[in-house]
Amino acid sequence: MNTTPVTIVGAGLGGLTLARVLHVHGIPATVYEADASPAARTQGGQLDIHPGSGQLALAAAGLTEAFRAIIHEGADAARILDQDGELLLNIPGDDGETRPEVLRGDLRGILLDSLPEDTVRWGAKVTGVRSLGDGRHEVSFADGSTVVSALLVGADGAWSRVRPLVSDARPTYTGKTFIETYLHDVDQRHPATARLVGPGAMYALTPGKGITAHREASGVLHTYVQLARSAEWVAELGLPGTAAGNGAGSGADRDGAIGTARIAAEFEGWAPELLALITGTETAPVARMIHTLPDGHRWDRVPGVTLIGDAAHLMPPSGDGANLAMLDGAELAGAIAAHSDDAEKALAVYEEAMFPRSASFFVDAHEIVDLVIGESAPHGLIDFFGEAAQE
Ligand SMILES: Cc1cc2nc3c(=O)[nH]c(=O)nc-3n(C[C@H](O)[C@H](O)[C@H](O)COP(=O)(O)OP(=O)(O)OC[C@H]3O[C@@H](n4cnc5c(N)ncnc54)[C@H](O)[C@@H]3O)c2cc1C
Repeated sequence: MNTTPVTIVGAGLGGLTLARVLHVHGIPATVYEADASPAARTQGGQLDIHPGSGQLALAAAGLTEAFRAIIHEGADAARILDQDGELLLNIPGDDGETRPEVLRGDLRGILLDSLPEDTVRWGAKVTGVRSLGDGRHEVSFADGSTVVSALLVGADGAWSRVRPLVSDARPTYTGKTFIETYLHDVDQRHPATARLVGPGAMYALTPGKGITAHREASGVLHTYVQLARSAEWVAELGLPGTAAGNGAGSGADRDGAIGTARIAAEFEGWAPELLALITGTETAPVARMIHTLPDGHRWDRVPGVTLIGDAAHLMPPSGDGANLAMLDGAELAGAIAAHSDDAEKALAVYEEAMFPRSASFFVDAHEIVDLVIGESAPHGLIDFFGEAAQE
């Protein structure tokens, strides 16, 4: 049986930031990740890295320069359209000065490159955890092996295996699903749609449904089709993702043709350039059923274990989740370094700051998702962007 220093479950942005900032402070950590390799899964879309959270974490990680080098210029522009494709609001970008955007995979890459070899153990799927007393935990893996942790951190996302050690809370479905599609080589193959989306983010919204697309590096349009629908309705689409909530599962409609047609039917009468974001997809659409933990999720201190990121505070996507996961990782590492002889003090200091912070972001997340897909769409979001521009 192995014993590890700081044991982190999950090599998402939260777990990797934690490992990196610990490394900066000279504290070794091991990250156990279920994926078989860094390339096992596409890493999702572009992230807007915020000054007060993600950028602070990257500074603590000593990676500001590496981060600046991967910013996708122009991607911070945004526009809101109606369903006919008429422009309602246009916000030009400022070359990433205010809202720098990067690909999640690139960001994960600079974090991975900054860690000593063997920090991440790939193909290590945690199947269970149990307390051994005195703050120690036994972590079990799918291959039958185990490790004992002195300090265990659950950075394993929405469906955390570590969370049950501290809390009985389970994610619940919000009634909203984002369906992900991709168009490639868009200037050649879908020029009218590429022009309509523009260089950054495009929101075409009506109450209860919308199409949000983002232009990514190398001529890719990455779309989230947003629908307020029951879990049963989504399950009937049979798409990948419908079996396992926010993560990718395996639906019956593997190439997505039936699902694509049903989703497109929801947008009948919309501008053809917008519809092409659904019907032109070159990958089977993936349903991301949006789940949330209870607002302000928190727990009483449990010796030797804590959570960061979505494991701690899964909330509807409002552009903050990855940023908060990174900030949690950086702050927890800072607390462990500052109280290196007292792990309990370190975990208490971290949780004391994290709980109220995430509670306030839960409120914002509900508000923002409501602006995008609720009854006030699209005018609520137009007002929101207008107010943000004046701040
Ligand atoms: C549709 C959508 C759009 C979003 N857009 C944005 C955005 O624009 N900006 C933003 O900031 N946030 C966004 N988010 C939120 C963001 O994706 C999450 O908040 C963020 O990824 C959380 O990071 P994390 O490290 O906590 O968890 P994750 O990214 O979920 O990483 C968890 C890791 O743990 C691993 N793991 C899971 N279970 C196990 C196990 N049993 N054993 C071992 N390893 C395991 C997983 O494979 C994964 O690598 C979006 C979310 C969704 C659903």
